[in-house]
Amino acid sequence: MDNCIFCKIIKGEIPSKNVYEDELVYVFEDIEPTAPIHYLAIPKEHISKLDEINSDNSAVIAHIYEVIAKIAKEKELKDGFRVVTNCGEQAGQTVFHIHFHMLAGRSFGWPAG
Ligand code: 5GP
Ligand code: ZN
Repeated sequence: MDNCIFCKIIKGEIPSKNVYEDELVYVFEDIEPTAPIHYLAIPKEHISKLDEINSDNSAVIAHIYEVIAKIAKEKELKDGFRVVTNCGEQAGQTVFHIHFHMLAGRSFGWPAG
């Protein structure tokens, strides 16, 4: 996707701080963190948003959760962490390449704002 900033980040056309990378997934630091740890986990394949997940592309989503669990162990996030995906403008999605916010290092309120 030519105009997608996260596709540009994957290609290295926009710099980012690498946390983890494999053939399917890229994890990097959010540019405006809202918690002491704020990573974004994204599939290298462009999927715009969560309601575009289907039986053809869902394997990468399962893999992203495996990667998140691995990072949580490596970073010793024993006190807990939160994973958030906003789907659509009303939910707060601003970048239309599906992403999983991984947030840790402080308490989080519920219900979500
Ligand atoms: P959303 O609002 O779509 O759920 O989350 C988009 C996230 O992407 C925001 O937390 C925002 O700070 C982050 N973001 C937007 N542009 C960039 C960028 O160029 N680099 C990085 N590292 N994060 C970005
Ligand atoms: Zn994209």
